[in-house]
Order: sequence, then C-alpha cells, then structure tokens
Amino acid sequence: MKKYNKLDKQISKLPNKVLWCKKCVISNQRPRIIFDDNGICSACNNLEYKKTIDWLKRKKEFEKLLDKHRGNGKEWDVVVPSSGGKDSGYVAHKLKYEYGMNPLLVTWSPLKYTDIGIKNFNSLNDSGFVNIKCSPNGVIHKKLARLCFEELGDAFHTFVLGQMYFPVHIANKFKIKLIFYGENGEVEYAGDPKSVDKPFIDFLDDKKWVSGYLKGVTIDELIKFGIKNKNYLSEKDLFEADLNFYKPPSINELKKNNISKIYYYNYYHPWNPQENYYYCTENTGFQANLERTQGTYSKYSSIDDKMDGMHYYMRFIKFGLGRCMEDAAHEIRDGHITRNEGISLMKKFEGEFPDKFFLDFLEYLDINEKEFWKVVDSWRLSHIWKKEKSKWKLKNPIK
Ligand SMILES: [Zn+2]
Repeated sequence: MKKYNKLDKQISKLPNKVLWCKKCVISNQRPRIIFDDNGICSACNNLEYKKTIDWLKRKKEFEKLLDKHRGNGKEWDVVVPSSGGKDSGYVAHKLKYEYGMNPLLVTWSPLKYTDIGIKNFNSLNDSGFVNIKCSPNGVIHKKLARLCFEELGDAFHTFVLGQMYFPVHIANKFKIKLIFYGENGEVEYAGDPKSVDKPFIDFLDDKKWVSGYLKGVTIDELIKFGIKNKNYLSEKDLFEADLNFYKPPSINELKKNNISKIYYYNYYHPWNPQENYYYCTENTGFQANLERTQGTYSKYSSIDDKMDGMHYYMRFIKFGLGRCMEDAAHEIRDGHITRNEGISLMKKFEGEFPDKFFLDFLEYLDINEKEFWKVVDSWRLSHIWKKEKSKWKLKNPIK
C-alpha cells in the first residue's frame, strides 16, 4: 500500500513498477491506462484499432444523429462546451458551417485567462457563434482551487468540475438534447480500450463519471472535508446557489428533458489535434502562442489559462508524466515524430517548472512559496521519486 492520505482515489490504484510503452512515451502510471503483454499502452493499441474503423459508416451515423436533432433554425440544437481553444472551435465550426447545425457555445471561465486565451475566445465568437460564459464566484472558486491543490494535487480541478457540469446545466435550461465534446480523452490519451466504440458518455451514471473523470471525489465530499480540516474554508463562505454549477443538475429534471448523453466528435471522425489547429487558424481566427508553452515544445495546446501549466506540472509530480509526454505521445501515434525524437524532446522539456505564471498561481491560491513546495513534495510517491544530493529525481525515467 502506498503512503497516501489524500482525497485523490486514483493514487492507490497505481502499479508499483513503472513501465514505459514500447511504442510511445507514456508510462503505466497514467490512471486507467492498460498495458498489454507486449508492453504496449492502450492509446497505441486504440490507434491500431482505429485504423480498422469504417469511417464512412461512422460519418453516416453522425449525419443520422444530427438529422435527428437538427432544429428549424429558430432554436439552438446542439451545445458545444468550449474554452475558445482549437479543438472545440473545430467541432463548433464544422457542426455549424459544414453540417448546418445551430450550436450554442458554452464556456466555464478559465481560472485566469492568458492574453492569447481571451484573444482566441473572442475570435471564435467573432467567427459566428453565440456563447454563454459563466464566471464563478471568485471567493469560493479560489478557496476550492486551494483545497483541490492540497488534497487532489490539482488546483485546476475546480475548473474541470464546472467545465463538465455547467454545459449540462445550460443544455437542460434550454432543453437542448445534443451535447458535443471534441475528443474522448480515454481514447486519445489512453484509458479503457472499450471506449473507442462508445459514441457518448452517459452522465446519468454519475458514479462512473466521478470515478473516471473526477478523481473519485464529488464536490460535496470535497467541501465537507475542507470545512472540517481547513481554516480558510467555512460554512459562511459557501452559498449553496453558487455551488450549483460544480455538480450535475437534478437527475429527475434531466430525465424529464431527455438529456443524458455527451457525444464525442472523435468517435465519428478521425481526430488530429494538429489538423484542428490548422483548421482553426483558417476558420476561427485561432492563434498559437509566439513562444512554446513551458514544460513542452508545442505552441498551441491548452494555452488559455495561466493556471494550466501548474496542472501539468502537478501531474508530473504525481505520476511522473508531464506535458511534453502528452504532446510527444500523440505526435508519435500520429506519425509526426519518432519515439526517439519524442524521448529527446522529453529530456529537454519534460517537468520544466512553469515559472512564468508562478506568482499568479501563489496569489490566486493565497499561499506562499514555502507552502507551495510543501504541498508539491507531499505528492511525491516513493515508487516514482528518489532524492539524490537533496535533489528530487525520477526513479525510472524513460530511456
Ligand atoms: Zn503507447
């Protein structure tokens, strides 16, 4: 059993021995990943499987689904959760301009927009979309972010909660039965191989949702823990109405409105982040950063939130898997770079500390640098990290 007293329920399930995929650059420490007997990860195997998919057939399924939901033009007929990034922009633009749907874009605001993030958000709207954006209660949001940083090793988790549930609330409010995500992360970034053949996730199955996507803990459990154990959180901070969007709408109401599924665009079409980027630069005014994102070599992935870098950094601390791995693994699978090139990139950028917005992060969470590093080190598992001459090192880095 691992030394472990935090709320993230994924940790205790991690394998004790670190293995790296022989085809890409991911390890078996990613939650829910499956390695086969030949040492190949499920994302690589999913890719092989995807080559056998009859995409024409799936496109027809897609068109049939859209025909079923397409409105008369007077109402929105599909919700697309979107931060303004290239992937949701791609899906929204395709749905509207190629397939004649009327998408409503729904945004749960990033913790702190970057300049390029707000620019891309506005450009997407300016390319012809209506957007409903929620800015959560700042006092609650910041305290929850701190709680999530300390107990889940990820301040960004507060964003994930609203990003998941707020679009469902809006779909429910306007009785829009179709919701479209871009990619099913389980397929693209490795998870349950069965998910390749699943066009949607049923969020009425909240338990599966919570264990699969929310580190096994609900907002109510988090808050209960916070009130009991943290001096910065008390009942009087928490206005019940302001917490609504961190949890799903009432199941009865969803059932009544016949809303229960979020569909994945990448079930119906091949999914290529780089192609989405090119598409959006042409069609939605999307711009990449001028400089590469810290922790990786790319300039166009997850660039809209100043807190995002710390999300990936903490994943590196918790699982030994950072942001460069994420970009390189996908590009290896897409055939854009070789595994050796991926490893070289990781040697250069993997685990780089995102200091560009470090002060913003400390200020947002209202903690000092010493407190920050104490939390960081509390997430280093003994089978992943070792200390050499007072420096932390990965025990089994990729070779
Ligand atoms: Zn792999």
